[in-house]
Amino acid sequence: MVKQTIQVYARIKPTKKNTAVYSVNNEPQTSAALEFVVPKDMADGFVNNKRECFSFRFQKVFDQTTNQEEIFEHIAKPVADSVLAGYNGTIFAYGQTGSGKTFTITGGAERYSDRGIIPRTLSYLYEHFIQDSSTVYRTHISYLEIYNEMGYDLLDSRHEASRLEDLPKVIIMEDTDQNIHLRNLSLQQSANEEEALNLLFLGDTNRMIAETPMNQASTRSHCIFTVHLCRREPGSATLRRSKLHLVDLAGSDRVSKTGLNGQLLTEAKYINLSLHYLEQVIIALSERNRCHIPYRNSMLTSVLRDSLGGNCKTTMIATMAVDKRNLDESISTCRFAQRVAIIKNEAILNEELDPALLIARLKQEVQSLKEELTMLTGEERDEQLTMEEIKKLEESVKAFLDDPGPDVTLTLGPDMRKIQYCFCLLKTMILGNRSGNCSNHDIQQSPAAITGEKDTQEHHCTEEVNKLKELLEQRDNEISILVKILKKEKKKASDATTQLASISNVQKNVAKSDAGLSAVQLPQAENNEPTSTGPGGRAVQYMKRGAQLSVGKQEAFETFIKDHEDHHIIEDNKSLLKQRSTEARQLGEQLHDAKQKINEFKKQLEVRRRQRAASGVIANHKDIVEEVDPVEENLREHIEQEKKIYEISACHLKALRTEIEHLQLFLERAKVKLHKDFEKWWNEEASNAQKSKNEARGRTGAPCGTLPPSSHSTPGFETLITKPAWPNMMREEQVSDFTSSSELRALSKSSLSTSSIPLTGDRQADADILAFIRARQNLLSRAGALQK
Ligand code: ADP
Ligand code: MG
Repeated sequence: MVKQTIQVYARIKPTKKNTAVYSVNNEPQTSAALEFVVPKDMADGFVNNKRECFSFRFQKVFDQTTNQEEIFEHIAKPVADSVLAGYNGTIFAYGQTGSGKTFTITGGAERYSDRGIIPRTLSYLYEHFIQDSSTVYRTHISYLEIYNEMGYDLLDSRHEASRLEDLPKVIIMEDTDQNIHLRNLSLQQSANEEEALNLLFLGDTNRMIAETPMNQASTRSHCIFTVHLCRREPGSATLRRSKLHLVDLAGSDRVSKTGLNGQLLTEAKYINLSLHYLEQVIIALSERNRCHIPYRNSMLTSVLRDSLGGNCKTTMIATMAVDKRNLDESISTCRFAQRVAIIKNEAILNEELDPALLIARLKQEVQSLKEELTMLTGEERDEQLTMEEIKKLEESVKAFLDDPGPDVTLTLGPDMRKIQYCFCLLKTMILGNRSGNCSNHDIQQSPAAITGEKDTQEHHCTEEVNKLKELLEQRDNEISILVKILKKEKKKASDATTQLASISNVQKNVAKSDAGLSAVQLPQAENNEPTSTGPGGRAVQYMKRGAQLSVGKQEAFETFIKDHEDHHIIEDNKSLLKQRSTEARQLGEQLHDAKQKINEFKKQLEVRRRQRAASGVIANHKDIVEEVDPVEENLREHIEQEKKIYEISACHLKALRTEIEHLQLFLERAKVKLHKDFEKWWNEEASNAQKSKNEARGRTGAPCGTLPPSSHSTPGFETLITKPAWPNMMREEQVSDFTSSSELRALSKSSLSTSSIPLTGDRQADADILAFIRARQNLLSRAGALQK
């Protein structure tokens, strides 16, 4: 058992803004101080020039310049090591919204070097599995999101239902030993780093898809990414199970009771209710003599029960921003951290016996004992006695009982089966006698009783035989039922295997699917839509083929993405991906070359050796063969050199591959985000347009479906509707003339807001209208720019 307090680290987010006065003092050992200086006049009622100092202690404070690699090395690696050894581990990030929790736990989406603790830890774990070939490791991943006290499985295929609220809820169950089990939370096996990373990105994408402006899940929800690890040495019946929770908590933002400028640094309420319960648990744990810890108050504390004061090595990263306006939140975060730092955990090695292995081992032992017995007795024994043996035994027992002599013995030999059978026989006789309730003495005295006894005995026997027959039938039935069940289970198992295989294929396809984020990715036929079954569902579909857009909408989308805030990041990553792919290809060629060269040198070496051996035989001179041959040496050196080149290239290629996978996943996710943002924008535009249409209609009293007069509408739109695309509308409406080119130019100057365009309500038509107007606007502005 390892007793340890929760390790608490601080990380300060880089900022270019004016920072508060603070100092970091990392002392050599495992302690550091973080100090904030707050002018007293910032607090109500104190108008003097004294400064107040707030000092907090941490294991270590990571200042603004710290990069992700250092965070992983200092914080996550030791936890990963103890998880590998068989202890549970937890790392959780706590801090206000925007302070860098997600950046620290998952990573930033812009650069490969920004990847956070989860991807780096996965990389580290799988690297370890490959190196430690003497142990068998099995990993499963789960990804839980807790929002509004409800748990959702981020890897659930039913993410088809895009709203978080529509998903099946994860339910907490507690067994008699007070262990927590989570129903509806799937555990996905992941055989390698690639699969595990895919699951992470799948979960993140699902989370993004489910988020709506109404449920700001990313800031108000808690995400728990868990690696379930099982390790076993081959042949050993003990296995070790450990769990690693990597937790991105909701923003710890508080609402101050008296507003932000009054009562600075006083108690304030959390926006998030589960964080309030988390704090209560922390307070209870940090106070001595508290016997009740209110874990059950919230889902978060129930799930993290082991991590807080239980069987786990836990680490907290307090993330904070040091710009002035965030000072009070940062101090709150530090205060929380100080409480957490007191909590003691008791981590134990989670070792258990594998029942299947144990049975196998015992069976083996029985077999070898049987063989030993056969050797000793010289005869091979079956499980059962033969009929002949039984008959003989019954005779011996009868003779033994019939012989009144006190010295008579029953000789059975060293055979436990026979001994046991005789005891059984004797027991049946004794019990039979007892239930008969009459002694031998009575029977001998009355001949009538003897016949009576015989009758009852016969009756007894037929009864017994009937009973046994019934029993036999019953057993037969049971056996046939069991065989049926077994067959069914077998079929189920084989079905599951095929399903699993197809799921992993889907995942592979996702990883390998086209990484290019081409905006011109035209939709495939709708009826080709696969019914998704694998984990991730909707996200997988999204990632595979993007959202389905109509042609007009697609055009609008193309314009939209050019203005999107992520555009340059996506372009940068795309070109980086291209560059890395080229590098990888070149490295692949280098590897191929090196391998060919090695083979060539090896061949030459072989030829040289044969030649030398032959000349040795011809000259009948052994020494020739044993002498050092400079040509051979030279060849060997070359081989060594090429081998080194090969190894270096292989290592480099491996790193490149991981980076390429990351970049691909980043791009996939960016694609989903773009589509989501676009949809949001599109719907807003559509509803704005509808609103203004209704308003205009209200003013003019125009009948439904009629366009407002030109003074209220966009002249360009009227031009549009003269197109015979809507013949029925044309019949109803007063169509104006085509707008002249001068009007068009005028239109290009007045910036056309899409919200002012009345729409038809027909999706396809509206899509075309918007696309046309955007495209024309672009054209005109480009023409205008050229004229200038
Ligand atoms: P939180 O999850 O705490 O709400 P985020 O991790 O989303 O905050 O961070 C908010 C923004 O700040 C993101 O754009 C993120 O990339 C950036 N950021 C956070 N921490 C760092 C850091 N240490 N270095 C660079 N950028 C950071
Ligand atoms: Mg976040």
